[in-house]
Amino acid sequence: MKYDVVVVGAGPAGSTAAKFLSENGISVLLVDKSKFPRDKSCGGGIPVRGLKEYKYIAEKGLIESYSYGGFIHSPSLKYRGEVQRNEPFIAMVLRKKFDFGLVNSAIDNGAIFIDNMAVDDIEISENKAKVMLNDGTDVESRMVVGADGIWSVVAKKSGLSHNHKDIGISLFQEYPMSAETLDRYFTKKRLFHIHFNVKGIAGYGWVFPKKEHVNIGVVEMRRKLGSEEKTYLKEIFNDYIQLLKESKTLPSSFKVGKIQGAALPTCPVEKTYADRVLLCGDAAGLVHPFNGEGIEYAMSSGRIAADVIAEALEVDDTSAKFLSKYEKLWKNDFGKTIKLFLRISKRLGRKTEKLVKLISRDKIIAELALDIGMGNSTIHDCKWTIAKRLLYLRFKDLIHRG
Ligand SMILES: Cc1cc2nc3c(=O)[nH]c(=O)nc-3n(C[C@H](O)[C@H](O)[C@H](O)COP(=O)(O)OP(=O)(O)OC[C@H]3O[C@@H](n4cnc5c(N)ncnc54)[C@H](O)[C@@H]3O)c2cc1C
Repeated sequence: MKYDVVVVGAGPAGSTAAKFLSENGISVLLVDKSKFPRDKSCGGGIPVRGLKEYKYIAEKGLIESYSYGGFIHSPSLKYRGEVQRNEPFIAMVLRKKFDFGLVNSAIDNGAIFIDNMAVDDIEISENKAKVMLNDGTDVESRMVVGADGIWSVVAKKSGLSHNHKDIGISLFQEYPMSAETLDRYFTKKRLFHIHFNVKGIAGYGWVFPKKEHVNIGVVEMRRKLGSEEKTYLKEIFNDYIQLLKESKTLPSSFKVGKIQGAALPTCPVEKTYADRVLLCGDAAGLVHPFNGEGIEYAMSSGRIAADVIAEALEVDDTSAKFLSKYEKLWKNDFGKTIKLFLRISKRLGRKTEKLVKLISRDKIIAELALDIGMGNSTIHDCKWTIAKRLLYLRFKDLIHRG
Protein backbone atom coordinates (compact mmCIF):
# COMPACT_ATOMS: atom_id res chain seq x y z
CA MET A 1 0.00 0.00 0.00
CA LYS A 2 1.22 3.52 -0.81
CA TYR A 3 -0.13 6.87 0.40
CA ASP A 4 1.17 10.42 0.48
CA VAL A 5 0.61 10.56 4.24
CA VAL A 6 -0.05 8.00 6.97
CA VAL A 7 -1.73 9.52 10.02
CA VAL A 8 -1.28 7.34 13.10
CA GLY A 9 -4.09 7.79 15.65
CA ALA A 10 -7.66 8.90 14.95
CA GLY A 11 -8.31 11.15 17.95
CA PRO A 12 -9.09 14.85 17.35
CA ALA A 13 -5.48 15.54 16.22
CA GLY A 14 -5.26 12.72 13.66
CA SER A 15 -8.77 13.07 12.26
CA THR A 16 -8.37 16.82 11.83
CA ALA A 17 -5.01 16.37 10.09
CA ALA A 18 -6.53 13.68 7.83
CA LYS A 19 -9.59 15.83 7.03
CA PHE A 20 -7.59 18.90 6.00
CA LEU A 21 -4.97 16.85 4.11
CA SER A 22 -7.56 15.01 2.06
CA GLU A 23 -9.43 18.26 1.44
CA ASN A 24 -6.23 19.32 -0.36
CA GLY A 25 -6.38 16.25 -2.62
CA ILE A 26 -3.58 14.45 -0.73
CA SER A 27 -3.94 10.67 -0.34
CA VAL A 28 -4.20 9.80 3.36
CA LEU A 29 -4.36 6.62 5.39
CA LEU A 30 -5.74 7.21 8.90
CA VAL A 31 -5.02 4.24 11.14
CA ASP A 32 -6.00 3.57 14.76
CA LYS A 33 -5.37 0.66 17.08
CA SER A 34 -8.87 0.83 18.61
CA LYS A 35 -12.12 -0.39 17.12
CA PHE A 36 -14.30 2.66 16.38
CA PRO A 37 -16.47 4.15 17.74
CA ARG A 38 -14.23 4.05 20.81
CA ASP A 39 -14.32 6.01 24.05
CA LYS A 40 -11.47 8.19 25.32
CA SER A 41 -10.81 9.17 28.93
CA CYS A 42 -11.74 12.83 28.98
CA GLY A 43 -13.89 15.51 30.62
CA GLY A 44 -15.18 16.40 27.16
CA GLY A 45 -15.26 20.17 27.73
CA ILE A 46 -14.09 22.44 24.90
CA PRO A 47 -13.91 26.24 25.21
CA VAL A 48 -16.33 27.65 22.61
CA ARG A 49 -13.64 30.00 21.27
CA GLY A 50 -11.71 26.93 20.22
CA LEU A 51 -14.52 25.73 18.00
CA LYS A 52 -14.91 28.86 15.89
CA GLU A 53 -12.54 27.52 13.24
CA TYR A 54 -14.33 24.16 13.10
CA LYS A 55 -17.93 25.08 12.28
CA TYR A 56 -18.55 21.59 10.85
CA ILE A 57 -18.45 20.19 14.41
CA ALA A 58 -21.69 21.91 15.44
CA GLU A 59 -23.19 21.41 11.96
CA LYS A 60 -22.64 17.66 12.24
CA GLY A 61 -24.33 17.61 15.65
CA LEU A 62 -21.19 16.50 17.51
CA ILE A 63 -21.78 18.83 20.46
CA GLU A 64 -23.87 17.21 23.14
CA SER A 65 -24.73 20.37 25.06
CA TYR A 66 -23.36 23.69 26.22
CA SER A 67 -22.46 25.05 29.64
CA TYR A 68 -23.44 28.69 29.96
CA GLY A 69 -21.12 29.30 32.88
CA GLY A 70 -19.92 27.81 36.11
CA PHE A 71 -18.10 28.19 39.39
CA ILE A 72 -14.54 27.95 40.63
CA HIS A 73 -14.15 27.15 44.29
CA SER A 74 -11.20 27.85 46.58
CA PRO A 75 -9.57 24.88 48.38
CA SER A 76 -11.21 25.82 51.71
CA LEU A 77 -14.58 26.28 49.86
CA LYS A 78 -14.78 29.71 51.55
CA TYR A 79 -14.60 31.62 48.28
CA ARG A 80 -15.96 31.11 44.81
CA GLY A 81 -15.96 32.90 41.49
CA GLU A 82 -18.96 32.64 39.21
CA VAL A 83 -19.91 33.28 35.60
CA GLN A 84 -23.36 32.92 34.06
CA ARG A 85 -23.95 33.97 30.50
CA ASN A 86 -26.68 33.95 27.90
CA GLU A 87 -24.23 32.58 25.31
CA PRO A 88 -22.47 29.21 25.50
CA PHE A 89 -19.24 29.17 27.52
CA ILE A 90 -18.03 25.57 27.19
CA ALA A 91 -19.13 23.02 24.59
CA MET A 92 -19.63 19.57 26.11
CA VAL A 93 -19.04 16.46 24.02
CA LEU A 94 -19.23 12.70 24.54
CA ARG A 95 -15.89 11.53 23.21
CA LYS A 96 -17.17 8.29 21.69
CA LYS A 97 -19.58 10.19 19.45
CA PHE A 98 -17.35 13.25 18.95
CA ASP A 99 -14.22 11.36 17.85
CA PHE A 100 -16.19 9.07 15.54
CA GLY A 101 -17.84 12.13 13.97
CA LEU A 102 -14.40 13.65 13.32
CA VAL A 103 -13.20 10.39 11.75
CA ASN A 104 -16.26 10.42 9.48
CA SER A 105 -15.54 13.97 8.31
CA ALA A 106 -12.04 12.82 7.33
CA ILE A 107 -13.55 9.83 5.48
CA ASP A 108 -16.11 12.12 3.77
CA ASN A 109 -13.19 14.15 2.43
CA GLY A 110 -11.54 11.07 0.96
CA ALA A 111 -9.25 9.74 3.73
CA ILE A 112 -9.01 5.93 4.00
CA PHE A 113 -9.61 4.77 7.57
CA ILE A 114 -8.44 1.49 9.10
CA ASP A 115 -9.34 0.85 12.74
CA ASN A 116 -8.48 -2.01 15.05
CA MET A 117 -4.92 -1.93 13.71
CA ALA A 118 -1.92 -0.75 15.76
CA VAL A 119 1.21 0.75 14.27
CA ASP A 120 4.20 -1.11 15.74
CA ASP A 121 7.09 0.73 14.16
CA ILE A 122 8.14 3.27 11.57
CA GLU A 123 11.26 3.45 9.43
CA ILE A 124 12.38 6.70 7.86
CA SER A 125 14.75 6.66 4.91
CA GLU A 126 15.94 9.24 2.43
CA ASN A 127 13.24 8.59 -0.15
CA LYS A 128 10.29 7.22 1.88
CA ALA A 129 8.67 6.42 5.22
CA LYS A 130 7.59 2.88 6.07
CA VAL A 131 4.86 2.29 8.63
CA MET A 132 4.68 -1.23 10.09
CA LEU A 133 1.22 -2.48 11.08
CA ASN A 134 0.60 -5.17 13.66
CA ASP A 135 -0.85 -7.58 11.10
CA GLY A 136 2.67 -7.87 9.68
CA THR A 137 2.04 -5.65 6.62
CA ASP A 138 3.59 -2.28 5.96
CA VAL A 139 2.58 0.95 4.25
CA GLU A 140 4.81 3.32 2.32
CA SER A 141 4.31 7.07 2.46
CA ARG A 142 6.06 10.37 1.97
CA MET A 143 5.09 11.65 5.44
CA VAL A 144 3.95 10.27 8.80
CA VAL A 145 1.82 12.20 11.30
CA GLY A 146 2.16 10.93 14.87
CA ALA A 147 -1.22 11.66 16.48
CA ASP A 148 -1.17 8.54 18.61
CA GLY A 149 -1.64 10.08 22.04
CA ILE A 150 0.47 10.42 25.14
CA TRP A 151 2.30 7.08 24.74
CA SER A 152 3.02 7.76 21.05
CA VAL A 153 4.86 5.00 19.19
CA VAL A 154 5.69 7.43 16.37
CA ALA A 155 7.35 9.85 18.83
CA LYS A 156 9.32 7.01 20.40
CA LYS A 157 10.45 5.49 17.11
CA SER A 158 11.45 8.84 15.63
CA GLY A 159 13.46 9.90 18.69
CA LEU A 160 11.09 12.75 19.59
CA SER A 161 9.57 11.09 22.62
CA HIS A 162 8.58 12.73 25.86
CA ASN A 163 10.44 11.60 28.99
CA HIS A 164 7.01 11.34 30.69
CA LYS A 165 8.49 12.52 33.97
CA ASP A 166 5.93 15.24 34.27
CA ILE A 167 2.43 14.08 33.52
CA GLY A 168 -1.00 14.61 34.96
CA ILE A 169 -2.82 11.67 36.45
CA SER A 170 -6.52 11.56 36.72
CA LEU A 171 -9.45 9.50 37.91
CA PHE A 172 -12.84 10.24 36.44
CA GLN A 173 -16.15 8.87 35.34
CA GLU A 174 -19.00 9.91 33.08
CA TYR A 175 -22.33 8.96 34.65
CA PRO A 176 -25.72 8.95 32.94
CA MET A 177 -28.14 11.29 34.75
CA SER A 178 -31.68 12.29 33.88
CA ALA A 179 -32.21 15.72 32.33
CA GLU A 180 -34.59 16.59 35.20
CA THR A 181 -31.93 15.85 37.85
CA LEU A 182 -29.36 17.78 35.84
CA ASP A 183 -31.77 20.74 35.55
CA ARG A 184 -32.32 20.65 39.31
CA TYR A 185 -28.66 20.49 40.32
CA PHE A 186 -26.94 22.38 37.51
CA THR A 187 -29.85 24.43 36.11
CA LYS A 188 -30.78 24.58 32.44
CA LYS A 189 -27.55 26.52 31.96
CA ARG A 190 -25.67 23.34 32.94
CA LEU A 191 -23.29 25.25 35.25
CA PHE A 192 -19.95 23.46 35.79
CA HIS A 193 -17.80 23.35 38.94
CA ILE A 194 -14.03 23.45 39.34
CA HIS A 195 -12.57 22.85 42.82
CA PHE A 196 -8.96 24.00 43.03
CA ASN A 197 -6.52 21.83 45.01
CA VAL A 198 -9.38 19.66 46.18
CA LYS A 199 -8.29 17.69 49.27
CA GLY A 200 -4.83 19.28 48.93
CA ILE A 201 -3.81 17.82 45.55
CA ALA A 202 -1.72 19.87 43.12
CA GLY A 203 -4.55 19.93 40.65
CA TYR A 204 -8.30 20.19 40.76
CA GLY A 205 -11.63 18.41 40.73
CA TRP A 206 -14.25 19.02 38.06
CA VAL A 207 -17.95 18.45 37.54
CA PHE A 208 -19.08 18.87 33.94
CA PRO A 209 -22.86 18.50 33.51
CA LYS A 210 -23.89 17.53 29.99
CA LYS A 211 -27.24 16.87 28.32
CA GLU A 212 -27.90 13.56 30.06
CA HIS A 213 -24.55 12.81 31.72
CA VAL A 214 -22.37 14.24 34.39
CA ASN A 215 -18.60 13.92 34.04
CA ILE A 216 -16.72 14.05 37.36
CA GLY A 217 -12.99 13.75 37.92
CA VAL A 218 -9.88 14.73 39.82
CA VAL A 219 -6.54 15.45 38.21
CA GLU A 220 -3.15 15.89 39.78
CA MET A 221 -0.76 17.72 37.49
CA ARG A 222 2.96 17.03 37.08
CA ARG A 223 3.25 13.66 38.80
CA LYS A 224 4.76 10.31 37.90
CA LEU A 225 2.32 7.51 37.25
CA GLY A 226 2.61 4.73 39.84
CA SER A 227 0.26 2.28 41.48
CA GLU A 228 0.54 3.93 44.93
CA GLU A 229 -0.51 7.24 43.46
CA LYS A 230 -3.53 5.64 41.80
CA THR A 231 -4.69 4.30 45.17
CA TYR A 232 -4.12 7.69 46.77
CA LEU A 233 -6.08 9.42 44.03
CA LYS A 234 -8.93 6.94 44.47
CA GLU A 235 -9.36 8.11 48.07
CA ILE A 236 -9.31 11.70 46.86
CA PHE A 237 -11.95 10.88 44.24
CA ASN A 238 -14.22 9.27 46.82
CA ASP A 239 -13.73 12.20 49.21
CA TYR A 240 -14.51 14.57 46.36
CA ILE A 241 -17.82 12.83 45.68
CA GLN A 242 -18.62 13.11 49.39
CA LEU A 243 -17.80 16.82 49.32
CA LEU A 244 -20.05 17.28 46.29
CA LYS A 245 -22.91 15.53 48.07
CA GLU A 246 -22.42 17.54 51.27
CA SER A 247 -22.42 20.80 49.32
CA LYS A 248 -25.59 19.62 47.48
CA THR A 249 -23.81 19.80 44.13
CA LEU A 250 -24.78 16.15 43.64
CA PRO A 251 -27.85 14.27 44.92
CA SER A 252 -27.17 12.34 48.15
CA SER A 253 -28.37 9.18 46.36
CA PHE A 254 -25.55 9.51 43.78
CA LYS A 255 -23.58 6.26 43.47
CA VAL A 256 -19.96 5.98 42.35
CA GLY A 257 -19.60 3.40 39.60
CA LYS A 258 -16.48 1.98 38.04
CA ILE A 259 -13.96 4.81 37.88
CA GLN A 260 -11.32 5.12 35.17
CA GLY A 261 -7.71 6.22 35.40
CA ALA A 262 -5.86 8.11 32.70
CA ALA A 263 -2.74 10.17 32.10
CA LEU A 264 -2.28 13.41 30.22
CA PRO A 265 0.86 15.27 29.15
CA THR A 266 1.57 18.54 30.94
CA CYS A 267 4.27 20.01 28.70
CA PRO A 268 5.28 19.84 25.02
CA VAL A 269 8.02 17.50 23.80
CA GLU A 270 11.29 19.24 22.98
CA LYS A 271 10.90 18.89 19.22
CA THR A 272 7.72 18.14 17.27
CA TYR A 273 9.25 17.43 13.84
CA ALA A 274 11.87 15.20 12.24
CA ASP A 275 12.60 14.09 8.67
CA ARG A 276 9.21 12.99 7.22
CA VAL A 277 7.52 13.12 10.66
CA LEU A 278 5.31 15.60 12.53
CA LEU A 279 3.79 15.07 15.97
CA CYS A 280 0.36 16.46 16.85
CA GLY A 281 -1.88 16.69 19.94
CA ASP A 282 -1.01 14.61 23.03
CA ALA A 283 1.80 12.84 21.13
CA ALA A 284 3.51 16.25 21.05
CA GLY A 285 2.46 17.10 24.63
CA LEU A 286 0.18 19.90 23.43
CA VAL A 287 -2.15 20.28 26.40
CA HIS A 288 -2.99 23.40 28.41
CA PRO A 289 -0.72 22.93 31.46
CA PHE A 290 -3.17 24.62 33.83
CA ASN A 291 -6.55 23.15 32.96
CA GLY A 292 -5.52 19.98 31.11
CA GLU A 293 -7.56 20.84 28.01
CA GLY A 294 -6.09 19.30 24.88
CA ILE A 295 -8.89 18.77 22.35
CA GLU A 296 -8.60 22.25 20.86
CA TYR A 297 -4.79 22.11 20.63
CA ALA A 298 -5.00 18.61 19.15
CA MET A 299 -7.29 19.88 16.39
CA SER A 300 -5.29 23.06 15.79
CA SER A 301 -2.01 21.18 15.60
CA GLY A 302 -3.61 18.69 13.17
CA ARG A 303 -4.85 21.55 10.98
CA ILE A 304 -1.46 23.33 11.03
CA ALA A 305 0.35 20.05 10.29
CA ALA A 306 -1.93 19.49 7.27
CA ASP A 307 -1.07 22.95 5.88
CA VAL A 308 2.68 22.45 6.33
CA ILE A 309 2.61 18.94 4.84
CA ALA A 310 0.65 20.18 1.80
CA GLU A 311 3.42 22.73 1.19
CA ALA A 312 6.19 20.20 1.85
CA LEU A 313 4.72 17.73 -0.66
CA GLU A 314 4.20 20.45 -3.22
CA VAL A 315 7.86 21.57 -3.12
CA ASP A 316 9.01 17.98 -2.51
CA ASP A 317 10.90 18.84 0.66
CA THR A 318 10.02 16.67 3.66
CA SER A 319 13.25 17.37 5.53
CA ALA A 320 13.23 18.26 9.22
CA LYS A 321 14.53 21.69 8.20
CA PHE A 322 11.48 22.42 6.05
CA LEU A 323 9.05 20.85 8.55
CA SER A 324 10.41 23.00 11.41
CA LYS A 325 7.95 25.57 10.08
CA TYR A 326 5.20 23.51 11.76
CA GLU A 327 6.66 24.11 15.22
CA LYS A 328 7.00 27.84 14.56
CA LEU A 329 3.35 28.00 13.49
CA TRP A 330 1.85 26.14 16.47
CA LYS A 331 4.06 28.11 18.85
CA ASN A 332 2.75 31.33 17.29
CA ASP A 333 -0.82 30.11 17.51
CA PHE A 334 -1.18 28.61 21.01
CA GLY A 335 2.40 27.83 22.11
CA LYS A 336 2.71 31.18 23.91
CA THR A 337 -0.30 30.31 26.07
CA ILE A 338 1.21 26.91 26.94
CA LYS A 339 4.54 28.54 27.86
CA LEU A 340 2.90 31.21 30.00
CA PHE A 341 0.69 28.72 31.87
CA LEU A 342 3.63 26.39 32.48
CA ARG A 343 5.21 29.27 34.40
CA ILE A 344 1.95 30.26 36.11
CA SER A 345 1.07 26.73 37.22
CA LYS A 346 4.57 26.20 38.67
CA ARG A 347 4.30 29.43 40.65
CA LEU A 348 0.66 29.06 41.63
CA GLY A 349 0.98 25.46 42.87
CA ARG A 350 -1.37 25.11 45.81
CA LYS A 351 -1.71 28.88 46.39
CA THR A 352 -5.12 29.14 44.76
CA GLU A 353 -7.01 30.22 47.91
CA LYS A 354 -5.82 33.81 47.49
CA LEU A 355 -6.55 33.78 43.78
CA VAL A 356 -10.17 32.67 44.25
CA LYS A 357 -10.57 35.11 47.14
CA LEU A 358 -9.62 37.92 44.76
CA ILE A 359 -11.86 36.57 42.01
CA SER A 360 -14.80 36.27 44.41
CA ARG A 361 -14.63 39.98 45.23
CA ASP A 362 -15.41 41.30 41.78
CA LYS A 363 -17.75 40.15 39.00
CA ILE A 364 -15.58 41.54 36.21
CA ILE A 365 -12.40 39.89 37.53
CA ALA A 366 -14.34 36.63 37.96
CA GLU A 367 -15.54 36.76 34.34
CA LEU A 368 -12.04 37.46 33.05
CA ALA A 369 -10.43 34.78 35.23
CA LEU A 370 -12.91 32.12 34.16
CA ASP A 371 -12.58 33.10 30.51
CA ILE A 372 -8.78 32.84 30.72
CA GLY A 373 -8.69 29.76 32.96
CA MET A 374 -11.15 27.82 30.80
CA GLY A 375 -9.42 28.83 27.57
CA ASN A 376 -11.95 31.29 26.13
CA SER A 377 -9.52 34.26 26.23
CA THR A 378 -5.79 34.75 26.60
CA ILE A 379 -4.05 36.79 29.31
CA HIS A 380 -2.61 38.83 26.47
CA ASP A 381 -6.12 39.83 25.27
CA CYS A 382 -7.25 40.89 28.74
CA LYS A 383 -4.13 42.19 30.47
CA TRP A 384 -5.09 45.89 30.40
CA THR A 385 -8.66 45.26 31.56
CA ILE A 386 -7.30 43.12 34.42
CA ALA A 387 -4.70 45.75 35.37
CA LYS A 388 -7.34 48.52 35.40
CA ARG A 389 -9.74 46.43 37.44
CA LEU A 390 -7.07 45.49 39.99
CA LEU A 391 -6.13 49.17 40.34
CA TYR A 392 -9.79 50.03 40.86
CA LEU A 393 -10.11 47.39 43.62
CA ARG A 394 -6.94 48.65 45.29
CA PHE A 395 -8.31 52.18 45.17
CA LYS A 396 -11.63 51.02 46.65
CA ASP A 397 -9.76 49.31 49.51
CA LEU A 398 -7.77 52.46 50.24
CA ILE A 399 -10.96 54.58 50.37
CA HIS A 400 -12.63 52.04 52.71
CA ARG A 401 -9.63 51.98 55.01
CA GLY A 402 -9.19 55.77 54.91
C1 LIG B 1 -9.09 12.37 32.42
C2 LIG B 1 -8.87 13.35 31.32
C3 LIG B 1 -9.75 14.43 31.18
C4 LIG B 1 -9.56 15.33 30.13
N1 LIG B 1 -10.48 16.33 29.98
C5 LIG B 1 -10.36 17.18 28.92
C6 LIG B 1 -11.35 18.17 28.69
O1 LIG B 1 -12.35 18.30 29.40
N2 LIG B 1 -11.18 18.99 27.63
C7 LIG B 1 -10.11 18.88 26.79
O2 LIG B 1 -10.00 19.68 25.84
N3 LIG B 1 -9.17 17.94 26.99
C8 LIG B 1 -9.27 17.08 28.01
N4 LIG B 1 -8.34 16.09 28.18
C9 LIG B 1 -7.23 15.97 27.21
C10 LIG B 1 -7.73 15.36 25.90
O3 LIG B 1 -8.41 14.15 26.17
C11 LIG B 1 -6.53 15.09 24.97
O4 LIG B 1 -5.67 16.20 24.98
C12 LIG B 1 -7.00 14.82 23.54
O5 LIG B 1 -7.76 13.64 23.47
C13 LIG B 1 -5.78 14.68 22.62
O6 LIG B 1 -6.19 14.25 21.34
P1 LIG B 1 -5.20 13.41 20.42
O7 LIG B 1 -5.90 13.23 19.13
O8 LIG B 1 -3.85 14.01 20.44
O9 LIG B 1 -5.01 12.02 21.15
P2 LIG B 1 -6.08 10.91 21.58
O10 LIG B 1 -7.42 11.49 21.69
O11 LIG B 1 -5.47 10.24 22.76
O12 LIG B 1 -6.09 9.89 20.36
C14 LIG B 1 -4.97 9.10 20.09
C15 LIG B 1 -5.42 7.92 19.26
O13 LIG B 1 -4.25 7.18 18.88
C16 LIG B 1 -4.55 5.80 18.92
N5 LIG B 1 -3.28 5.07 19.04
C17 LIG B 1 -2.44 5.06 20.10
N6 LIG B 1 -1.37 4.30 19.83
C18 LIG B 1 -1.53 3.82 18.57
C19 LIG B 1 -0.76 2.97 17.72
N7 LIG B 1 0.39 2.47 18.12
N8 LIG B 1 -1.23 2.67 16.50
C20 LIG B 1 -2.43 3.20 16.06
N9 LIG B 1 -3.20 4.00 16.84
C21 LIG B 1 -2.76 4.33 18.06
C22 LIG B 1 -5.49 5.65 20.12
O14 LIG B 1 -6.28 4.47 20.00
C23 LIG B 1 -6.31 6.93 20.02
O15 LIG B 1 -7.51 6.74 19.31
C24 LIG B 1 -8.47 15.17 29.23
C25 LIG B 1 -7.58 14.10 29.38
C26 LIG B 1 -7.78 13.21 30.41
C27 LIG B 1 -6.83 12.04 30.54
